[in-house]
Amino acid sequence: MNKTDIGVIGLAVMGENLALNMESRGYSVSVFNRTYSKTKNFIEGRAKGKNFVGSQEIKDFVNSIGKPRKIMLMVKAGEVVDKTIDTILPFLDKNDIIIDGGNSDYRDTQRRVDELATKGILFIGSGVSGGEEGALLGPSLMPGGNPKAWPFVKDIFTAISAKAKNGDPCSNWMGNGGAGHFVKMVHNGIEYGDMQLISEAYNIMKNLLNMSNEEIGKQFSTWNSGVLDSYLIEITADIFKFKEDGDYTLDKILDVAGQKGTGKWTVENSLDLGNPLTLITEAVFSRYLSSIKDVRLQVEREFKTPVVKLLKSRDEVLADLEKTLYSAKMISYTQGFTLLRDADKKFNWDLNMAEIAETWRGGCIIRSTFLDKIADAFRKEDDLVNLVLDDYFKQELIKSLDGFKSLCSIALLNEIPVPAFTSALNYFNGLKSGKLPANLIQAQRDYFGAHTYERVDKERNDFYHSNWTGRG
Ligand code: NAP
Repeated sequence: MNKTDIGVIGLAVMGENLALNMESRGYSVSVFNRTYSKTKNFIEGRAKGKNFVGSQEIKDFVNSIGKPRKIMLMVKAGEVVDKTIDTILPFLDKNDIIIDGGNSDYRDTQRRVDELATKGILFIGSGVSGGEEGALLGPSLMPGGNPKAWPFVKDIFTAISAKAKNGDPCSNWMGNGGAGHFVKMVHNGIEYGDMQLISEAYNIMKNLLNMSNEEIGKQFSTWNSGVLDSYLIEITADIFKFKEDGDYTLDKILDVAGQKGTGKWTVENSLDLGNPLTLITEAVFSRYLSSIKDVRLQVEREFKTPVVKLLKSRDEVLADLEKTLYSAKMISYTQGFTLLRDADKKFNWDLNMAEIAETWRGGCIIRSTFLDKIADAFRKEDDLVNLVLDDYFKQELIKSLDGFKSLCSIALLNEIPVPAFTSALNYFNGLKSGKLPANLIQAQRDYFGAHTYERVDKERNDFYHSNWTGRG
């Protein structure tokens, strides 16, 4: 029997669709699933008549793949990945390649790369974005890990990945160790930020401007043909049109947002790296706030809702809202890319920021034309320390600032929560303050704890202490 080009372990939503995607590009695929009935159903169902080999025994599965073997794991993230690796290891040969396409923690990926390298096995941890449809038709792929493995999987990854509008594959090598899964984690964090920004815009249109679902949907559609053109704005416009049994489904959905944890991981990593990732953090906290529905209802009863003060015409507020969405989005991505930069410095991954932006242009949830602007900025200046220093972003922020400030003020005046909008504005205000009041914090720290401070009139890293109380 001819050996296959690649193997996939895990035939749940993602694995099944990814395997079908590979086969549709001309590759023969071996498949395995812990529960054999799923393999059987797949082979006799969606895979029927196609170039697949399904095995019940792991040994037969491994032996059906051509060397060096390429085996992609699409199993539950966490311990299951280690367990699955342990089951295939005894049947592998030196230079075989294992690819983990699940949402793994980048630290686990780093460990697996190192551990498997000692056994002669090349390990890749790859971010896979785009959900079920992306897996089938073309996901955004963010591989990283053992660089020796990349030449062997590059062609398959290029073939199965989404393509940007200019035809470029949305698959690039991210870097060593856990780089691919770290980039995917930041992608998910940015996704949290984008979704929060869009939901704040919805709140303004609904509760400040009193717009109907139909009007809000049309507004999102209009925005989707301008600078905000993106997958998330596009599907949001669709959501506002969608009805079941004559009612808008959106209005029937409880306002409690769930999460699987990648947003939280992104925030935890920003805290570990000392990076001010304020907008995504607010997006994660906003989901937590949404989850305390009973408390919110209780508090709502105790406080009066103010009478709406618009101060501007509806059209002017809508124009400001578009500027606010765009400015806050620019700030969110600015923060996301500085987090990548800080991680890159710490782990020596040698991340290519332009390629990361390009990889996200198709297939994934945050795909947008805006990512071209980010790629352009990093192509012009590879080591750009902050996106707002790029000429395009600088001019866009200057153009939008009055509308951005006005919209945030009107929202606050009317007690409409806009944590992501205002955190973006506050970050920007802080970023462009050559002098912050942090000197007072240093004085307080030195006063109560003798923590010392640096002086403006002395060298950096020289530390001083004052006897604030005059006592002993
Ligand atoms: P999943 O529900 O995360 O995992 C199901 C797969 O894992 C099944 O093949 C299952 O086998 C296997 N599995 C579970 N526990 C196991 C164990 N103890 N030992 C061996 N195998 C075990 O599947 P998924 O939604 O397709 O996602 C796969 C990976 O892609 C995950 O890491 C997920 O986070 C990531 N991901 C998912 C999406 C998405 O939209 N769903 C998007 C991007 C990335 P059995 O059939 O035998 O239970």
